[in-house]
Amino acid sequence: MKPTLSTDVIVVGAGPTGLMLACELALAGVRCRVLERRADEPNITRAFALHARTLELLDARGLADDVVPRGVQIHVVAPLPGVSVDLRELDSRYPMVLIVPQSGTEMVLQARAEQLGVVIWPRTSEGVFSASTVG
Ligand SMILES: Cc1cc2nc3c(=O)[nH]c(=O)nc-3n(C[C@H](O)[C@H](O)[C@H](O)COP(=O)(O)OP(=O)(O)OC[C@H]3O[C@@H](n4cnc5c(N)ncnc54)[C@H](O)[C@@H]3O)c2cc1C
Repeated sequence: MKPTLSTDVIVVGAGPTGLMLACELALAGVRCRVLERRADEPNITRAFALHARTLELLDARGLADDVVPRGVQIHVVAPLPGVSVDLRELDSRYPMVLIVPQSGTEMVLQARAEQLGVVIWPRTSEGVFSASTVG
């Protein structure tokens, strides 16, 4: 007999959006699983600049302290030649842009999701999603 999948929500994609959503669902008591088509560790970096508000939201979930040490803090940016913006003037606990690999943010979010009981199913080399590939 085939095993049955017992869950309330399936999230497709273990990028920052999917992982954060899974954490929020789990915190709200909703059972969820995440399907990820990558079979290997995350190695991409697109979302590499985390702004103050993102860091504040991560902080609201107790995650900022794990993310900040993974990045480089930029306090002054120059969006145009001759123009510089001092982010330290922001009224924020995180007056910066944090340059951090997306994979680093994903690792922190994935660890939290798993802590909250979310099961993440990577795709196997055969192209099917399998719980047996996760510990
Ligand atoms: C060049 C570039 C630079 C960027 N720089 C920034 C930046 O500095 N800061 C910033 O905040 N954002 C930046 N972005 C936007 C960035 O892509 C997003 O912020 C971030 O990647 C969004 O995360 P996500 O989880 O929505 O999507 P993704 O990071 O794309 O993650 C989606 C995940 O879903 C998986 N997936 C997709 N389809 C399926 C499927 N059918 N089945 C199973 N799994 C699937 C993928 O393998 C992937 O792991 C940039 C984008 C680009 C293209």
